[in-house]
Amino acid sequence: MHEYSIVSSLIEQCEQHAREQHSTKITRVAIKVGVLSGVEPELLKTAFETFKLEGVCHDAVLEMNIQPLIIACHQCGVTSTLDERTVVCPNCQSTDTRVLDGEDMMLMQLELEQ
Ligand SMILES: [Zn+2]
Repeated sequence: MHEYSIVSSLIEQCEQHAREQHSTKITRVAIKVGVLSGVEPELLKTAFETFKLEGVCHDAVLEMNIQPLIIACHQCGVTSTLDERTVVCPNCQSTDTRVLDGEDMMLMQLELEQ
Protein backbone atom coordinates (compact mmCIF):
# COMPACT_ATOMS: atom_id res chain seq x y z
CA MET A 1 0.00 0.00 0.00
CA HIS A 2 1.12 3.51 -0.93
CA GLU A 3 0.62 4.83 2.62
CA TYR A 4 2.88 2.17 4.12
CA SER A 5 5.91 3.27 2.15
CA ILE A 6 5.14 6.89 3.01
CA VAL A 7 4.92 6.07 6.69
CA SER A 8 8.10 4.03 6.73
CA SER A 9 10.05 6.92 5.23
CA LEU A 10 8.32 9.32 7.64
CA ILE A 11 9.37 7.18 10.59
CA GLU A 12 12.90 6.99 9.19
CA GLN A 13 13.00 10.79 9.16
CA CYS A 14 11.75 10.85 12.75
CA GLU A 15 14.40 8.41 13.86
CA GLN A 16 17.09 10.43 12.17
CA HIS A 17 15.93 13.59 13.97
CA ALA A 18 15.83 11.70 17.27
CA ARG A 19 19.41 10.48 16.78
CA GLU A 20 20.58 14.00 15.99
CA GLN A 21 18.89 15.30 19.14
CA HIS A 22 20.13 12.33 21.22
CA SER A 23 16.56 11.47 22.05
CA THR A 24 15.11 8.01 22.50
CA LYS A 25 11.48 8.96 22.43
CA ILE A 26 9.23 10.99 20.17
CA THR A 27 5.95 12.16 21.69
CA ARG A 28 4.34 14.01 18.81
CA VAL A 29 4.70 13.96 15.05
CA ALA A 30 2.99 16.74 13.13
CA ILE A 31 2.65 16.40 9.40
CA LYS A 32 1.09 18.35 6.60
CA VAL A 33 -1.00 16.37 4.13
CA GLY A 34 -1.78 18.14 0.87
CA VAL A 35 -5.17 17.35 -0.66
CA LEU A 36 -3.39 16.57 -3.93
CA SER A 37 -0.69 14.45 -2.30
CA GLY A 38 -2.66 11.28 -2.99
CA VAL A 39 -2.42 10.34 0.67
CA GLU A 40 -5.52 9.00 2.36
CA PRO A 41 -5.41 10.42 5.94
CA GLU A 42 -7.21 7.45 7.53
CA LEU A 43 -4.93 4.92 5.86
CA LEU A 44 -1.91 6.97 6.77
CA LYS A 45 -2.95 7.01 10.42
CA THR A 46 -3.53 3.26 10.45
CA ALA A 47 -0.14 2.67 8.83
CA PHE A 48 1.52 4.96 11.37
CA GLU A 49 -0.10 3.17 14.31
CA THR A 50 1.23 -0.12 12.93
CA PHE A 51 4.75 0.99 12.07
CA LYS A 52 5.44 3.18 15.08
CA LEU A 53 5.47 0.25 17.51
CA GLU A 54 8.96 -0.82 16.50
CA GLY A 55 10.89 2.39 16.98
CA VAL A 56 11.32 5.73 18.74
CA CYS A 57 7.81 6.73 17.68
CA HIS A 58 6.06 3.99 19.69
CA ASP A 59 4.34 6.49 22.01
CA ALA A 60 4.02 9.26 19.48
CA VAL A 61 0.76 10.96 18.59
CA LEU A 62 0.30 11.66 14.92
CA GLU A 63 -1.13 15.07 14.20
CA MET A 64 -2.32 15.58 10.64
CA ASN A 65 -2.90 18.99 9.19
CA ILE A 66 -4.78 18.86 5.94
CA GLN A 67 -3.37 21.40 3.52
CA PRO A 68 -5.92 22.72 1.00
CA LEU A 69 -4.90 23.28 -2.56
CA ILE A 70 -3.55 26.74 -3.30
CA ILE A 71 -3.15 27.80 -6.90
CA ALA A 72 -1.90 30.99 -8.53
CA CYS A 73 -3.35 31.99 -11.87
CA HIS A 74 -1.02 33.25 -14.61
CA GLN A 75 -3.93 34.84 -16.49
CA CYS A 76 -5.58 37.03 -13.84
CA GLY A 77 -2.95 36.91 -11.12
CA VAL A 78 -5.38 35.73 -8.42
CA THR A 79 -4.25 33.24 -5.79
CA SER A 80 -7.03 30.88 -4.69
CA THR A 81 -7.49 28.33 -1.93
CA LEU A 82 -9.55 25.40 -3.15
CA ASP A 83 -11.29 22.50 -1.45
CA GLU A 84 -11.65 20.51 -4.64
CA ARG A 85 -8.99 18.78 -6.64
CA THR A 86 -8.83 21.08 -9.63
CA VAL A 87 -6.32 23.36 -11.28
CA VAL A 88 -8.93 25.62 -12.86
CA CYS A 89 -8.82 29.24 -11.66
CA PRO A 90 -12.17 30.00 -9.94
CA ASN A 91 -11.82 33.66 -10.89
CA CYS A 92 -11.37 33.44 -14.68
CA GLN A 93 -11.72 29.67 -15.40
CA SER A 94 -8.23 29.52 -16.87
CA THR A 95 -6.17 26.34 -16.57
CA ASP A 96 -2.96 28.35 -16.86
CA THR A 97 -2.26 28.02 -13.16
CA ARG A 98 0.54 27.00 -10.86
CA VAL A 99 0.11 24.93 -7.70
CA LEU A 100 1.65 26.73 -4.71
CA ASP A 101 0.68 24.30 -1.97
CA GLY A 102 -1.36 21.19 -1.27
CA GLU A 103 0.61 18.75 -3.43
CA ASP A 104 2.92 17.19 -0.93
CA MET A 105 3.06 15.51 2.41
CA MET A 106 5.76 16.68 4.74
CA LEU A 107 6.99 16.49 8.27
CA MET A 108 6.28 19.77 10.04
CA GLN A 109 7.20 19.29 13.66
CA LEU A 110 8.46 16.75 16.15
CA GLU A 111 8.34 16.72 19.92
CA LEU A 112 11.10 14.74 21.57
CA GLU A 113 11.86 13.56 25.03
CA GLN A 114 15.42 13.25 26.20
ZN1 LIG B 1 -7.47 33.39 -13.21
